[in-house]
Amino acid sequence: MIAPGSTIGIIGGGQLGRMLAIAAAQLGYRCHIYDPQENPPAADVAAEATHAAYDDADAMCRFADAVDVATYEFENLPAGALSALGDKLRPGTRSLAVAQDRAAEKEFLEQCRARVSPWRAVETLADVESAVAELRVPLVLKTRRFGYDGKGQAWIRGEDEAAAAWDAIGQQPAVAEAGVAFSAEFSVILARWADGRNALWESPENAHRDGILRRSTVPCSQQVALQVPRARETAIAIANALDHVGVLTVEFFAAAGGPMVNEIAPRVHNSGHWTIEGAVTSQFEQHIRAICDLPPGLTGLIRGSATMDNLIGDEVDRWPELLAERGAHVHLYGKGEARPGRKMGHVTRVVR
Ligand code: AMP
Repeated sequence: MIAPGSTIGIIGGGQLGRMLAIAAAQLGYRCHIYDPQENPPAADVAAEATHAAYDDADAMCRFADAVDVATYEFENLPAGALSALGDKLRPGTRSLAVAQDRAAEKEFLEQCRARVSPWRAVETLADVESAVAELRVPLVLKTRRFGYDGKGQAWIRGEDEAAAAWDAIGQQPAVAEAGVAFSAEFSVILARWADGRNALWESPENAHRDGILRRSTVPCSQQVALQVPRARETAIAIANALDHVGVLTVEFFAAAGGPMVNEIAPRVHNSGHWTIEGAVTSQFEQHIRAICDLPPGLTGLIRGSATMDNLIGDEVDRWPELLAERGAHVHLYGKGEARPGRKMGHVTRVVR
């Protein structure tokens, strides 16, 4: 067990790292943030920060010596660079390796017997054209690595659009994935302990716009609720196969014939932000509990329902009106410039 008073290293200093550090501080831990940027949002609320590149081996060794356990807030990290952390890293490098390469992820999901949309790995325009011929349109190209929030993606809606889409993703190794005619999107968020225990939250139904999450709602609608039991089984099988420690999020399409996995995130997730005020134990606190091997907290809803709305780009300028709304829980991430598409904060409403 990593006892309160110990130091938790958090690799990545964005809003997820910030909310993890706040939850850790509540439990009496100190946090040390590692981020290549100067003054990242999480450093404002942490005891220490290292400002170095992820592949700076010396800085990573010093960080490894300075912390008792380490975790990561996003998956686009060079896996080799984290080897200095050894078994201090939770979740381990297997969860990271699977989640950071979309082709490895799909192969792994198929091994776990999860349903995924038909897909092909593509490395050339000829591969993309074959994928169009075999999978038909619409299909979406997604770069194997470094994609998030719909970035690194291009849709092919007509057979003559293959070359344009290949150019749009920068002609990088990618997966071509058949478009899914889903009726809704939802996620399963769970925390897993090293001994195999797990805890799941109510599954949020998620609405996206332009590839970015806009709103998560719990409880989900009836049509999604029918798919949640099978999705939970799938998510637990994935977590077990990864020997995952900490929070794991699996995003699903509610499709005809049952839940289909879109992608996995080996970490706390935007669709779980509602748990801060909406659940007995938040995803952030539970992640800290799991990686430090503390007992699990309850995950039930505090009240009947909750909604979480992201504040994207200049929507954050609405903070005065949101703060004046009684009962709205406003979270501002302390990021500088409100660039279009940038997640600047969120607001949660817990009702009934
Ligand atoms: P991703 O970054 O893979 O989570 O994709 C962002 C969003 O794009 C998803 O939440 C969906 O709304 C949409 N999307 C991604 N892949 C597909 C697909 N194969 N079929 C339909 N919609 C998709």
